[in-house]
Amino acid sequence: MEEECPKAKVPCKFSFAGCKVKLKRDLVQRHLDTSKDEHLEMIASECKRLKADVGNLQLVVAQISPFLSPLELPMNNFERFRSGGTVWRSNAFYTHFGGYKLCLGVSPNGWAEGDSSTYVGVAIYMMKGEFDSRLKWPFKGAITVELINQRKGGESCKKVIVDQYTDPRHFERVTEGDIRDNGWGYPQFISHSDLYKPEESKEYLVNDTLIFRVTNIEVFSV
Ligand SMILES: [Zn+2]
Repeated sequence: MEEECPKAKVPCKFSFAGCKVKLKRDLVQRHLDTSKDEHLEMIASECKRLKADVGNLQLVVAQISPFLSPLELPMNNFERFRSGGTVWRSNAFYTHFGGYKLCLGVSPNGWAEGDSSTYVGVAIYMMKGEFDSRLKWPFKGAITVELINQRKGGESCKKVIVDQYTDPRHFERVTEGDIRDNGWGYPQFISHSDLYKPEESKEYLVNDTLIFRVTNIEVFSV
């Protein structure tokens, strides 16, 4: 068994809170008895510091989490949007940390609100973001979106829906409201027949939910 030398100098157990005292093992108890108030004071200010750190970290996490890639954007209640002829919009996300704010728009009957095509249209919409004043406009880049095949091992439906040929007018800075009225993407991202008559290896619509994934974002306008 290892013996502890009573004459060895050890740091006070409140060193984590800032106590600098080092003392022989046999004097430790006396230091603890006589320095209770000081230790309490140290712990109080250490707690205060930690609390501030946690607050800052929470802010950072909140700012970073929308960038986590690949970004998964589930569209629930597909039938409700399809029968109502309305466009579903995803949560907002950023191209990168400090980047452009965007969201995904899905129109179950084609391109726009009220369309009656037999394809699902998928588009990217420019939004007003908190870093806009530091960015170059219009946004130029490439964005790849996948519709996840929920059948295990099956291939997803993948398209680069924004690229270098995209009309840049759709990606000017948003100055009125929070989101640009028109997006840019694919009017025929996937056909209704692919959704409703799933083949052996394809199943995109499960429990009235489509799962989109933004798998790649490149920014050219930097
Ligand atoms: Zn101490």
